[in-house]
Amino acid sequence: MTDTFKELDHPARLLMGPGPINVHPRVLRAMSVQLLGQFDPEFTGYMNEVMALYRGVFQTANRWTFVVDGTSRAGIEAALVSTLSPGDDVVVVNAGRFGLLLAEIAERCDAKVTFVEGEWGQVVDPQAVEDAVKRVKPRLVACVHGDTSTTIAQPIEAIGEICRRHDALLYVDATATLGGMSVPVDNWQADIVTAGLQKCMGGPSGSAPITISDRAADHIFSRRHVEKGLAGPGMTGNGRRIASNYFDLAMIMDYWSDKRLNHHTEAASMLFAARECARIVLEEGLEARFARHAEAGAAMVAGIEALGLTVYGDQAHKMTNVTGVIAPAGVDYDRVKARMRTEFEIEIGAAFGPLAGKIWRIGTMGVNARKHAVLQTLAALEAVLRWEGFAAPAGAGVDAAAKVFA
Ligand SMILES: *Cc1c(COP(=O)(O)O)cnc(C)c1O
Repeated sequence: MTDTFKELDHPARLLMGPGPINVHPRVLRAMSVQLLGQFDPEFTGYMNEVMALYRGVFQTANRWTFVVDGTSRAGIEAALVSTLSPGDDVVVVNAGRFGLLLAEIAERCDAKVTFVEGEWGQVVDPQAVEDAVKRVKPRLVACVHGDTSTTIAQPIEAIGEICRRHDALLYVDATATLGGMSVPVDNWQADIVTAGLQKCMGGPSGSAPITISDRAADHIFSRRHVEKGLAGPGMTGNGRRIASNYFDLAMIMDYWSDKRLNHHTEAASMLFAARECARIVLEEGLEARFARHAEAGAAMVAGIEALGLTVYGDQAHKMTNVTGVIAPAGVDYDRVKARMRTEFEIEIGAAFGPLAGKIWRIGTMGVNARKHAVLQTLAALEAVLRWEGFAAPAGAGVDAAAKVFA
């Protein structure tokens, strides 16, 4: 007989890494409701509600605001493959792992990538972006808002203005900031912005909110080709066909429009999760939510510094919801992270690429952007660091953080 293994029954872990984080209980409940057929009027009603809710979350009037089924990079890939044709120029603003991911995906679209590079831990100068845009005249500029690999948030407004002036489309990956820091899509003049649920939106990964300006939608629809088995008489395609079926935004928008042209089977439980995440965000209020994330982040920084540790990166542009902690000399980087889990059931994040083994990344996002999660994490970190031979002053981290909340 095949072993069926035991029912899922793991310890309740506090997820304080840079995502995924603990899911809001209301979102878990929404995911457990019974399914509906994807053309059921009740269900298409939910789809329309999701569009309306995410207009609020993205601070936009964009008609084309919906979710792509898949993790955050499904949104990224859909945005890039649906706008870029082979040979198109794209300027990638890069100062971290996720900037490199944008370039990698653009290259797979056979676009020509021009980098505007910043050092990890710093932001990129908008003037350098403008110089590149003037020189290259790209179809698209691609940029990350908050790059969790470095904990730094790139100011977008100046880049949006540059893109409008030079008639380039602007794509922004706001996966790590949506619902935690302001993502004012219309004020940014951004054309396509995508995200995920597993960071500040407080949900599981698996659904990628996306918003698309009319001018970006016009460009995408100039490449619309209805799938063969669905096309009626007179439905011929135009432009170069988008290189992915699953991520073809022209087809996905036809599915989310009143036409309801079938594409994939909407991932209903993820749609319910995305809907509940947005309801929670808007009920709390955007400003209150951003303030809560800023306060929790400030408390984490105060606690880390009081423990005698150094926070990584340009503090003037640090994301409020992730803190990079430079591992002090003499402690075992991996063992500190492991003991946070084995002794305290707390997960913190490691780092990638040039920062691997050098900084831990601690998130304060969604339901975990609150006092008890910050204080528990600091108390645990202090103990683990002492066990590993680093003389963290007893109680100092918790005291400093508690003061920020007081
Ligand atoms: C976390 C993160 C992602 C994650 O993508 P997934 O496909 O959901 O794993 C993408 N972009 C940024 C900027 C992130 O911080």
